[in-house]
Parts: sequence; C-alpha cells; structure tokens
Amino acid sequence: MSSNTNVFEMAQRQFDGVADLLKLDPSVREFLRWPLREYHFRIPVRMDDGTIRVFQGFRVQHNDVRGPAKGGIRFHPAETIDTVRALATWMTWKCAVADIPLGGGKGGVIVDPATLSGAEKERLVRGYIQQIWKNIGPRQDVPAPDVGTNPQMMGWMMDEYSKLVGQYTPGVITGKPVGGGGSLGRTEATGYGVIINVREALKYLGLDSSQCTGALQGFGNVSQHAAIGFVEMLKGKVICVSYWDREDRCSYTVSKSDGIDPHFLISITDQYGTIDKAKAKAAGYAVEDGDAWISKDVDVLMPCALEGQLNADSIHKVSKKVRIIAEGANGPTTPEADAVIRERGIFDIPDFLCNAGGVTVSYFEGVQNDMNFYWSKEEVLSKLDEKMTVAFHAVLDMSLNEKVYMRDAAYMVAISRVVKAMQLRGWI
Ligand code: GLU
Repeated sequence: MSSNTNVFEMAQRQFDGVADLLKLDPSVREFLRWPLREYHFRIPVRMDDGTIRVFQGFRVQHNDVRGPAKGGIRFHPAETIDTVRALATWMTWKCAVADIPLGGGKGGVIVDPATLSGAEKERLVRGYIQQIWKNIGPRQDVPAPDVGTNPQMMGWMMDEYSKLVGQYTPGVITGKPVGGGGSLGRTEATGYGVIINVREALKYLGLDSSQCTGALQGFGNVSQHAAIGFVEMLKGKVICVSYWDREDRCSYTVSKSDGIDPHFLISITDQYGTIDKAKAKAAGYAVEDGDAWISKDVDVLMPCALEGQLNADSIHKVSKKVRIIAEGANGPTTPEADAVIRERGIFDIPDFLCNAGGVTVSYFEGVQNDMNFYWSKEEVLSKLDEKMTVAFHAVLDMSLNEKVYMRDAAYMVAISRVVKAMQLRGWI
C-alpha cells in the first residue's frame, strides 16, 4: 500500500465523483458514504507456548439493502479499520454490479498468519467467530476468505458458528473446503472472473487474445488462477508475476520472455504466495526487482495483490504498449493514477467488476448450501461465465452510452441498483 493513501478516503472520493454524476440526493449520499454498522473486538488466543496473545478484530457491514452483507476476512499485519471500511464499501458495489442479491461487508484481524502454527490459527479463527457470531449468519452477514485466510480456516469458522447456534449452518460462511460445504470452482473463481473480463475487453478492442501478453502483480490465489486462465483460456502468454518474499521481506518479479508456466510456478510457491526463487532460477526464470512487473511491454497489466499499487509515482512506469489494466486486487489504483489511465486511454476494468468472480461463486455456494444439493464444477464455472459476461457488458454499455470512464460506469450501475433497492424497501 502506498504510505500516503487512506483507502477509505479513496473509496469515498470515488463514490463522491459518481454521486455528483448521478445527482444523488444529499441524504442518500451521506447514507452510502459510510458503513451501516461496524464491530471492533479483541480476541484472546492461547499460543502453543502457553501464553495468551490478544488480537484486534473487525467486522464492517457497509450495506445490506440488496441482501445479507457479504465479504471476506483478511488476516494482515497492516490491517486497519479504514482498510476494512473501504473493502466493505467496495463489496456493496461488487455484489450490485455482479447483480447478486447480497450486500457489502468485510472483516479483518491485525496479524501475520505466517507467524502462527496451524493450531494457533485454528484457535484464532474460532475466537473470531466467538466474538461476532451474534452479528453474522446466512441471513445477516456471510464472511469468506481474503488475503491471509483460506478454505480450511472457513471450515473451522463454520464449525464454530454451527456449534454456537446448535445447528449445522454451512450458509454462514463461503469459501469452505470442497467436501466441507464448499463449492467446486470457488478456488479458481476470482482469477477466472478476471480472465472472463479480460476476454470480453479484448473482444471489444478487437484484439486476438492468443497474440497477447500479460504481467501479473502478486502470486496468491487470484493471481495464480488468473495466470492459468490467461494461458489456458485465452491462449495468451504471461511473461511475469511478482510476489512478496517472506524471508527477504521484499518483493520480486519472476519472469520468462517466452512465457511462464503457471502450474510450475504454483508447484514452487508456499501457501502464503512466496515463490522458491532458487528453483525458479534453476528452471530458467529471471528474478528481477519487485517493481519490474509494472514496466513490462505487455498488452494486459493485472495488479492482483494489495490496494494502492498503481499510484501517482508508479503509474508513470506503465509501458506505452499496455492496452488493458485488469484490476484483480481490491483498490489497486489511486485516484491520481486513475487520472493518468483515463488520459492515456488505457481500457481499465475496475476492481469491483474485475474481481467479482469470487463473490459470485460464493453466492452460488450459499445457494447450494441452502438447497443441500451441489453442482458440478462445469455447471458452476459456466454460471460464473454467464454472470461475469453480463456484468461486463452492463458496465461497458453504461460507459459507452454515458461517455464515462469504466470505473465511473461500474459505480453508476452499482449505485443505481442499490438506490433502487432502497426505494423499493421504503428506506428513502
Ligand atoms: N474476498 C473476496 C472479495 O474481495 C471474496 C468475498 C466473498 O466471497 O464473499 O471479493
């Protein structure tokens, strides 16, 4: 994250700009600029050495007019209430733009999960649920994984909630492991959703995907599956990925000019997204500095790490060749960088449209939990494709009809849907 970016202010600035365009009523604007509810709590955890450590946790429910609040829980050492507020706000717009009947929420714990043992992690996630269980639920607020959390942790959270309410309640949380109430296709969903958006953008721009190159920032869940999708679905070439090296405490870019093999790189990556660079070098990959991904001569740039990565400084490093920026991360582009992207005419696929594949399959997971009937992976992924394609074109049409930038168009589609639901429920 760039040090001078407050992401919640950034989310509010983006919203304010579009509220002006939509001439939103001042009271509606004031209502939507802030979360509906937020919970701050302390989680005491017994560590393996017998001592107690107290962690700070948050859950923010930004809006639930279109359905239960929905959104992941992040475990990150630099987590703040403002990051969680921003991410919860973006979830409201994300679910609305994807047209799924859910609102926006987000949770967080200030912790580096890589410093915990498996048993400590389990006690921490169970402790998180013990603090918040009364305020979440399949019809209230449905958490999911995000940066630093994974399906196993979701499984423990679901188990803890089910024990506390005395009923098996798989629908309280999504992103659970397959076989433990999870949906096939959920792991791949966010990355594949990014690629479905890229596919539609390339078609719109008249570009042949098999001739296209891409560069990815990050090598966690989203980036790994976006890399696979770029290579296998689009037949394009990914020439680099960057990652955070936990041991060296800095990032690196791992590249190969004739195209990386995502499956190989995944096979040498740990659960926190750190690539074994000695093995990468031995296999003929170049290991460059962490910023190298941003200045590569590629057609598609895919920031799939944390917020604030394309900012006033870094945006000027983007190559003239770049045609599309596909925002797999939440909030990767600051308003200053946005202005440059707009001016240069790069086609931007905004975050809450581009990465909506994850929450879309989370929605499908909840539907399957409710029915207690599970779909095949093909069925899930084809439903995902349909939803994402429709969402992309709703935003593109808005952008073309109203002659606005794609991010503003996505906001216009999303805000209009949320405001309509508020009217229909008699809130305004
Ligand atoms: N954490 C993911 C996101 O930011 C998924 C949220 C969910 O599935 O609820 O979209």
